[in-house]
Amino acid sequence: MDFAAILLQWFKKNGRSLPWRETNDPYAIWLSEVILQQTRITQGTSYWERFMAQWPTVNDLAAATEDEVLKAWQGLGYYSRARNLHTAAQQVVELGGFPQTFKDLKTLKGVGDYTAAAIASIAFSEPAAVVDGNVYRVLSRYYSIDTPVDSTKGKKEFQALAQSLLPTNEPADYNEAIMDFGAVQCTPTSPRCNTCPLCETCIAFREQRINELPVKSKKVKQRKRHFTYLYIEYEGKIAIHQRGAGDIWQGLWELPQAEQLTSATDNVWKTEAQPLQKGVKHLLTHQILLADFYLWHPKVHPQLPSDFIWIKRQNLDNYALPRLIEILIKEIPT
Ligand code: SF4
Repeated sequence: MDFAAILLQWFKKNGRSLPWRETNDPYAIWLSEVILQQTRITQGTSYWERFMAQWPTVNDLAAATEDEVLKAWQGLGYYSRARNLHTAAQQVVELGGFPQTFKDLKTLKGVGDYTAAAIASIAFSEPAAVVDGNVYRVLSRYYSIDTPVDSTKGKKEFQALAQSLLPTNEPADYNEAIMDFGAVQCTPTSPRCNTCPLCETCIAFREQRINELPVKSKKVKQRKRHFTYLYIEYEGKIAIHQRGAGDIWQGLWELPQAEQLTSATDNVWKTEAQPLQKGVKHLLTHQILLADFYLWHPKVHPQLPSDFIWIKRQNLDNYALPRLIEILIKEIPT
């Protein structure tokens, strides 16, 4: 049996049973693929179920407001995915339906090679190979390939190899099989080589270099940032504002930061506010955030920039918040 046949056989016995695998609705499949990028299956599944219940069709999602979509996305991180999802849903409606080929799917906002291949193969049976982190890992180990997977050369090489291995009559099962195999059997650490149906022909296993593969060339540089947040409560209301474009958390709502206060107000809060937490660490992909958090009950109405609004605490649920802000606010008793 060849590589693909072994994987397909493994998949029949060990494939994960997931709700979006019960359908070939491109909307449901697309939603699952977008949610599951950077998200664990267990967490992603509950989000997928909620999105499908709230917006059962792409038309429903397109008709939602961006705020509603961001709110439903809250807790998943990488909010540009939610904004792209919303824009792409509107594109699909304008087009009169889902594009049905790998090439046309890529015209949708936020849909790259991986997502287009997943939708094209699973919903429309197009023989387009998916290449994600699981696929890089399985192929680099099985064939003992040293080319860095994050290099242009590596991306081309692995894409071509994945495509050459794809059985054209079973693209959906094969794509799902190799991704599940990477997630369940050939895992990043401690792969289950002893029970692996590919171990007899796996080169990395034979050469005992599993832990060296896949190779990555770039080290992600992380930027450290410091934020000082104030929970300002005045006459039963708290101040929040929506973050703009060009930085993290675009479109999400947050509390005032010390630097946003006017200098007159600034001097007052320093004497009146009560420190609640210092140096709360929050990790993003390329940034390390350190947040100090203060509680302030000002005696007079504080001056804030005009984009701030005052809302009742119980209405905070209507606003999409970054996870860090959500965590900080939970510290304040209602
Ligand atoms: S033998 Fe080990 S390294 Fe090779 S494919 Fe199987 S699980 Fe992965």
